[in-house]
Amino acid sequence: MSGYTFSKIGAAGDLMNQGEGETPDAVCELLYDLARDVPEAQVIVAVDKERGEATAFLVRGSKEGKQSRVFSFALQKEGPEFTINLDKDNGQNILVLRHELDEDATRRWKDEIGLLWVNAFNEYQDLKRILRCWQCHLSPDARVVVNSCDQPGTTRVLKEYLGELGDLKHERTIGNAMVLTVDRCTHHWMIDSDNLGVCKHCGRKRNFKKMINEAKEAETGRIKGHVSKTKAVKHTNTGTKTRSSKTRYRS
Ligand SMILES: [Zn+2]
Repeated sequence: MSGYTFSKIGAAGDLMNQGEGETPDAVCELLYDLARDVPEAQVIVAVDKERGEATAFLVRGSKEGKQSRVFSFALQKEGPEFTINLDKDNGQNILVLRHELDEDATRRWKDEIGLLWVNAFNEYQDLKRILRCWQCHLSPDARVVVNSCDQPGTTRVLKEYLGELGDLKHERTIGNAMVLTVDRCTHHWMIDSDNLGVCKHCGRKRNFKKMINEAKEAETGRIKGHVSKTKAVKHTNTGTKTRSSKTRYRS
């Protein structure tokens, strides 16, 4: 840990111990700044594989800002040497340790999230699940910080979220941590004959092929199950319905 970080945070003898991978100073500093800027009445969520020093920086940043609560979810149970020595003044009243799976927590989640930190989930499925579960709880101005964005699984998920499935936008990258913002555009898709859409407001591109094919299949299946007599007529209808249902995919 650098002297800079210490001088910025203050005497930090009470930091949590570090997890397996030390979070680089630049990323700690980033988390501190972002946590400090979270608006009042919003919260911070940290989803870590193993709770570590990054969480402490979120708490300290928040303490300097609006004292937003920091909800910390960790996949791995703390080892015996894990300690949190944040006394009341140093943010213990801000940090909320949660022990259930984060995906269970999101189902009943009420607080608006101003900052989401996702650390060390390098597998495609894991990161995708985390973003999917938490995304609907983000405030419009929220920041999402994804660590280890150089890993193949992470890169793949980020590519999807910044592109095809896109509801997030790239803001900046610090070390291996990517900062994302919420895409606030109310997309208006202009869809061409290849089912490729371009938003007329922001220019984001999206491939609707899969969605439209799935809708077609569902529609065809439904019709087949219902009536088999007037097949030809129903087929014509299917086409029309699929096309008119495009508006449903606006997000
Ligand atoms: Zn748009």
